[in-house]
Amino acid sequence: MASMEPYEVYAIRYATVMRPAAQSFIDADPHESARRLDYFVWFARNARRTVVIDTGFNADAARRRKREFLRSPAEGLKLLDVDAAAVETVILTHLHYDHVGNFDLFPRATFHLQDLEMSYATGRYMANGHFSHAYEVEEVVGMVREVYRGRVTFHDGTAEIAPGITVHHIGGHTAGLQSVRVWTRVGWIVLASDASHYYANMIDGRPFPIVADVTKMVDGWRTLRELASAPRHVVPGHDPLVMERYRAPRPDLEGIAVRLDDEPA
Ligand SMILES: [Zn+2]
Repeated sequence: MASMEPYEVYAIRYATVMRPAAQSFIDADPHESARRLDYFVWFARNARRTVVIDTGFNADAARRRKREFLRSPAEGLKLLDVDAAAVETVILTHLHYDHVGNFDLFPRATFHLQDLEMSYATGRYMANGHFSHAYEVEEVVGMVREVYRGRVTFHDGTAEIAPGITVHHIGGHTAGLQSVRVWTRVGWIVLASDASHYYANMIDGRPFPIVADVTKMVDGWRTLRELASAPRHVVPGHDPLVMERYRAPRPDLEGIAVRLDDEPA
């Protein structure tokens, strides 16, 4: 492991929305206060390669779904010298609109996806709004087209994407959700994506209500902790606290991006 070259890892915040507690926790109390949900894309970079994790949504989707759009994820990447048009490796944690929108901005990329995510997003459960609501059919169809172009690499469970970067099937939130583990200067950090939207989901044991299988979501929280060098290095997928616990890489990126290969406050 000592020979593996560590990655710098960044989260870029590109949108936000206020939601009632019932949309964050299955067991929410009616009196529990609303909380903000932030939208992120992530990337890992060392001297050899840059790997982007999820591609976010665009201004159109933000309007349709009434989210506050802060910046295009591609513009956010540009601020950290990542050119979306040149990126060769994109990991898609799952195909929900807030994770796969903008895949067209990555024309050179190979997309890494779990087998189960494609079968779930094109299968029987999409006839039910509870399961289909967070998918955009045109994006799912677009990803099917990328399969036919040979631009999707499928994984069934754990796989190494590059030395020091592995994906891990978690399921739960969607059937094929995968989380990402990255080797860094502080050890293994885990990008949970929607295996835990908030710190509170995994720490307090409170499942998020958009879910395909609650038992797998609950088991996933343990897997995340086991994958990371320490539980504090599991980074939730949508929690505004991420922007508070980690530092901006430069003063001009305050509120826009944070560096995750660091000790959280
Ligand atoms: Zn999400």
